[in-house]
Amino acid sequence: MEKNTRREVCDLIVIGGGPGGYLAAIAAAKEGLSVLLFEGGSIGGTCLNVGCIPTKYLLDKAAAMDKVRSLVDQKIFRECGLFSFRKMQEGRREVVHKLVSGVEYLLKANKIRVVRGFATLTGPGEVECEGSIYRGKDILIATGSVPSSIPIEGAELAITSTQALELEKVPGRLAVIGGGVIGMELASAYCSLGSEVTVLEVLPELFPAEDRKAVAYMVRALQKRGIHISCGTKVLKIEKSATGLRVCYEGTQAGVTEADVVLMATGRKPNLNGIDTEAAGISLTPKGEIQVDAYMETSVSHIYAIGDVVGGYQLAHAAYAEGEAAVRNIMGRREAVDLSVMPRCIYAMPAFAAVGISADKAEEMGIAAVTGEFAYGANGMALAKGADGLVRVVMDKENKMTLGVHIVGEDAPEMIAFASAAVRDKMTLNEWERMVVAHPSLSEMMKEAALDCFGKSVHKAV
Ligand SMILES: Cc1cc2nc3c(=O)[nH]c(=O)nc-3n(C[C@H](O)[C@H](O)[C@H](O)COP(=O)(O)OP(=O)(O)OC[C@H]3O[C@@H](n4cnc5c(N)ncnc54)[C@H](O)[C@@H]3O)c2cc1C
Repeated sequence: MEKNTRREVCDLIVIGGGPGGYLAAIAAAKEGLSVLLFEGGSIGGTCLNVGCIPTKYLLDKAAAMDKVRSLVDQKIFRECGLFSFRKMQEGRREVVHKLVSGVEYLLKANKIRVVRGFATLTGPGEVECEGSIYRGKDILIATGSVPSSIPIEGAELAITSTQALELEKVPGRLAVIGGGVIGMELASAYCSLGSEVTVLEVLPELFPAEDRKAVAYMVRALQKRGIHISCGTKVLKIEKSATGLRVCYEGTQAGVTEADVVLMATGRKPNLNGIDTEAAGISLTPKGEIQVDAYMETSVSHIYAIGDVVGGYQLAHAAYAEGEAAVRNIMGRREAVDLSVMPRCIYAMPAFAAVGISADKAEEMGIAAVTGEFAYGANGMALAKGADGLVRVVMDKENKMTLGVHIVGEDAPEMIAFASAAVRDKMTLNEWERMVVAHPSLSEMMKEAALDCFGKSVHKAV
């Protein structure tokens, strides 16, 4: 039988149907391009299937548990409800299914041909999938990332974040190797669902690039909830023990942690499976990511790459923004992608969200900055909700423009959308003063913190 006989030609081939790939495919179709999308796993990629959405489903139910416990402590509720983890997992699967079906429908509605199969980029303009050759004027690589492990003895005994989402029962004792975003989100969820959680982080501090005061607040709150966090701790090996697993470590504190489940949350690496970068002549960064310019084009003309496979923020909304930018450039509108105002969220409990720069970063950059602060404890809506936290706004001392916003506490990721606009548009003190914010709302705290930069907060004594 003759191989590779079927040939299809289109304007754009997208490899990978995660958030970056599916969004770029739809954006390109809306521009009138004929688009072929290859997906070897499930449409929606990491984000919809095993990332953003299923973690948030679990975190939402875990937060509800916390809320009920707090209401029981206050004797407002009489008893704490029992929950079914099995039903929770069913609910998670339903939400994922609904979203994946929704994106599949959108692809169909936009007349995008989806090829279910693992694609191999064989050279510029050419992709092979299950014996057929496909040709595209432009190619967009959106193959995402996969979990990366650390080379230690017994690493195979640990589970990945994907497996952590699919556990059949809540582990009694959970050890998390890696205190990054994924590690802390899953640590938070399982802590509230009843696990005894220990986080082992090799760096001396969690989230060193973020505002120190806001991070310290979050870490204290996580510890208060019972999560044991050990920074400056290098895990040496994982071994089986009489009661389950044992994680051995050295560092500021040397010792062992006994656990029923060990989660390896030590980051993700670009997925180059099927992308023969050498054959296509595509350059990689020293970290092994696909190298792109400000227009998301690789070192080979007409081959673009976006999302986790190019490194950078490794966030779904970064993949969206890069996908949109790539399509604009394919359409000939030469526009560099602007990732300077990227919201960064940690959906731990409490949640953290930031956009723009911190006061420390401003100092490093030689900008004279002032920081204003407002505590959840002084906000009516926060008190009504029983929410704790802190809002910090950084402004330029000279021209009184907004440089950054850092929030730790309930609904921080929701509030950061507006903060992003304030940082992008360099909102001034004068503009903050003239802004009317709904009352009561948590967002009032952002205005108060901005005014506090210049001693003008109304609901703050000093
Ligand atoms: C537990 C967890 C929680 C997360 N939470 C958040 C969050 O709250 N917010 C946030 O912004 N980000 C979050 N992320 C990160 C986010 O999921 C990723 O940044 C995002 O999915 C990257 O999108 P992408 O399109 O680049 O790649 P992916 O989503 O990884 O999609 C790549 C797709 O390409 C397919 N593919 C790969 N190679 C081929 C091939 N050769 N042929 C055909 N198909 C192929 C894969 O099957 C996959 O479907 C989380 C990640 C994890 C793991």
